[in-house]
Amino acid sequence: MTSVTLKGIEGREITVQTGLFINNEYVTATNGATLEVENPSTATRLATVAAAQSEDIDRAVQSSEKAFGSWKKVDPTVRRDLLNKLADLIERDAPIIASLEALESGMLYRNCLASNIPVATGNLRYFAGWADKIDGLSLPIPQGVAYTRREPIGVCAAIVPWNTSMIFFWKLSVAIAAGNTLIMKTSEQTPLWGQKVAELIKEAGFPPGVINILTGFGNIAGQALSEHPRIRKIAFTGSTATGRKIMQAAARTNLKKVTLELGGKGPTIIFDDANFDNAVFWATLGITHSNAQLCLAGSRIYVQDTIYEKFLVEFSKRSRDAVHGDPLLADTTKGAVSSKAHLDKILSYVERGKADGLRLLHGGNKLSGDGYYVANTAFADVDQSHAIMREEIFGPVAGIAPFKTEEEAIEKANDSEYGLNAAVFTNNVNRAMRVSNAIEAGTVTVNSWGRPNANTPFGGVKQSGFGRDSGHEALESWLVTKTIKYAVLE
Ligand code: NDP
Repeated sequence: MTSVTLKGIEGREITVQTGLFINNEYVTATNGATLEVENPSTATRLATVAAAQSEDIDRAVQSSEKAFGSWKKVDPTVRRDLLNKLADLIERDAPIIASLEALESGMLYRNCLASNIPVATGNLRYFAGWADKIDGLSLPIPQGVAYTRREPIGVCAAIVPWNTSMIFFWKLSVAIAAGNTLIMKTSEQTPLWGQKVAELIKEAGFPPGVINILTGFGNIAGQALSEHPRIRKIAFTGSTATGRKIMQAAARTNLKKVTLELGGKGPTIIFDDANFDNAVFWATLGITHSNAQLCLAGSRIYVQDTIYEKFLVEFSKRSRDAVHGDPLLADTTKGAVSSKAHLDKILSYVERGKADGLRLLHGGNKLSGDGYYVANTAFADVDQSHAIMREEIFGPVAGIAPFKTEEEAIEKANDSEYGLNAAVFTNNVNRAMRVSNAIEAGTVTVNSWGRPNANTPFGGVKQSGFGRDSGHEALESWLVTKTIKYAVLE
């Protein structure tokens, strides 16, 4: 199978295998099908990788089934040690993985290194710790005794998006700790770091077929996974539209378990009793970090009317500081967005805001260069009914509005079909509790934003989906309970 050599951080040469990773080998896709990977920072071709076809999904499922036969019987400490070993190898090769992610996604190298890698290794180590602590209950029954066993589901799949490698590890670490075998489909836009991780999976010593990693198109490989009659669970992160298709496919075929994480339209609520500088810092980061191509982005900002105009000035000052360009360079503070199609989508919202006469605070344009750069943009005084307050733009476009009372802030925050992540800024502990209790979201942060932890569950309510990544709760969704009943004979 072929490989590609790219230049990463400090000109370091990085060779990546381009085949499908099945049974710990890289193989070509059926009929030699391939897909092209682009560098969004330069709008040039980066690599060509295999594109899995439905026959390849069958191959991967066969490999996964065969592996599950023995994997389910290994001592849990083996799973623990392998996950820890993989975390060690990822730490060793962090500059390589972070370089690949920066090249194919446009995300800043230093963010890949400082945010994504620790989340990856944190989740691997956290769930490694759980692998040998999965236990059941002993239950008294009239005829004798019953006990429960928490067993793996079997052959599972995960479909992950392009916006951050964290999501891949959120799903892999827990699926494997629970004793399942896993087929992972990476995004067609960002397959390269996953190809490198596949090498490390083999080096760590995972038996062939325990983790298969497939590159491919969503509407071919993703759909074939969703419809496959012998895959028993599918975990997905991505758009609401695709989440619906996956659920429909599961319902049409074998009723595989489904968990969905479908993005958000996160409210950031700032009260006038908050630490102002802290609130401005996090509110800005929440809508500019990674160009806000994050499901937890704080894209609706509600500020108490008494500090509203002051906030707009400081927020705007801080948001303009970006130096855009090569994500591998230390001076760059803003990378490209993921693709031309995505740039156009973001700009279409910006144009809509302008056409509707919204108050443009800053930005509102494409930035210079061949790559897909868009200025940090903010509109003030945005009505709740506007698309900028309702739809997930997945780009650095903030909608800002004032509120008077706590009740109004809560009402506006909850006026959304999304419910993934919210941030509240106040120094009043009672208010912090009242508001965080009242907000309809899977996660609420107080006086901060983002910062996922391996031990805290992450996922949505309403149309942000269901199921959780990270934390003990995630483990539950990768296990099934079996009850065994003993009748005691007299
Ligand atoms: P998608 O939902 O299309 O992509 C996510 C993953 O699903 C990718 O691996 C994709 O493959 C795969 N996929 C696509 N179609 C199917 C299908 N029919 N069956 C199974 N899998 C499929 O998101 P986009 O990349 O198109 O982004 C569109 C919007 O979605 C963004 O602008 C944002 O609003 C939202 N989004 C939310 C994310 C989140 O974190 N919740 C992450 C990414 C996007 P392929 O890469 O080949 O398309």
